[in-house]
Amino acid sequence: MNKIRCQCCGKELPPGSLKYVVEIKTFADYDGYIDENSGDLEDGMLDLIEEMSDMDAKTLEEDVYKEMMFILCKDCRGRFIKDPFCVEKEIFEDEHTKGTVH
Ligand SMILES: [Zn+2]
Repeated sequence: MNKIRCQCCGKELPPGSLKYVVEIKTFADYDGYIDENSGDLEDGMLDLIEEMSDMDAKTLEEDVYKEMMFILCKDCRGRFIKDPFCVEKEIFEDEHTKGTVH
């Protein structure tokens, strides 16, 4: 049987241990706005259809809708719900880097 590990920090999660499932859904948002100044609408549509025919079905589908699932340990889940996109961490790392450059 494959061991379950936290997909964020890699910590092993033995059977019966506390773990969390994070589901992420991303989907294309359409606000109903079409820029009439961006050229002929029909030409635009034809370009789009041409572009789409070059893409495989999976890429196309993932472009519109993508669902992902992750298993996290308690610590990583705690960090995730506080700061899902690690904005705080990035700022901290920037400051840290600046501090060490001479
Ligand atoms: Zn973890």
